Amino acid sequence: MGQAPPALYQPPGTKKTYITDPVLAPQPPALQQKSGYPSSGPTSSAPAFRPEDELEHLTKKMLYDMENPPSDEYFGRCARCGENVVGEGTGCTAMDQVFHVDCFTCIKCSSKLRGQPFYAVEKKAYCEPCYINTLEQCSVCAKPIMERILRATGKAYHPHCFTCVMCHRSLDGIPFTVDAGGNIHCIEDFHKKFAPRCSVCKEPIMPAPGQEETVRIVALDRDFHVQCYRCEDCGGLLSEGDNQGCYPLDGHILCKTCNSARIQALTAKASTDL
Ligand SMILES: [Zn+2]
Ligand SMILES: [Zn+2]
Ligand SMILES: [Zn+2]
Ligand SMILES: [Zn+2]
Ligand SMILES: [Zn+2]
Ligand SMILES: [Zn+2]
Repeated sequence: MGQAPPALYQPPGTKKTYITDPVLAPQPPALQQKSGYPSSGPTSSAPAFRPEDELEHLTKKMLYDMENPPSDEYFGRCARCGENVVGEGTGCTAMDQVFHVDCFTCIKCSSKLRGQPFYAVEKKAYCEPCYINTLEQCSVCAKPIMERILRATGKAYHPHCFTCVMCHRSLDGIPFTVDAGGNIHCIEDFHKKFAPRCSVCKEPIMPAPGQEETVRIVALDRDFHVQCYRCEDCGGLLSEGDNQGCYPLDGHILCKTCNSARIQALTAKASTDL
């Protein structure tokens, strides 16, 4: 008379749980159904089943559970589903939490993790492939960065992949600079490549070791090292000392004395030529 076939009955909000209490376990089929053991499922006949009974029973059971956590092989509450974990081989612990073996799964792909390598990130467990997918990739080698991430120029790098394009040494923790094309250089190589070249010795004009600024002399639209800025005739330094100042003549860099000497020689030659 209007009695639903037990097989169709689904208690609202069914959750998987393990039978937590050996005293209550062999009780009416209602409990077994609620407990959702796949093996004990909807085959029972439940002759006089009434939802009120189950509600009352469940309430009692809940109170009972709260006051009497089963001590035999009781591991605690599953951190995933919130139900008790009882019985040999049904639970495991990870990240200081208790889980059902079936509940301890990868947060991304739901594969079971017991006995597998897993990675805990903020108390969430990942299987190895899913964990690797969450990692940032190195912008040089495109492989995931498992350990320390070096961040520079708005990108992520393996520390050993962040290298100078010229000398290829790692610039982890070392000052570096970037050219217009975004290429990473150690300071030294950057200067070697981009610094103005001295018109005398053809070497780049770079800051002295430990100095930030470059001292460079510009004369006659040419660049000079301080030490290379000398009179072409007598070799005297033109930037300091008694001979200070450049007196160029026909594109030659001369001190005042040598400039005068050349002019005199030219004048003398001109007069003898006449
Ligand atoms: Zn669980
Ligand atoms: Zn996974
Ligand atoms: Zn890399
Ligand atoms: Zn370098
Ligand atoms: Zn020079
Ligand atoms: Zn001179």
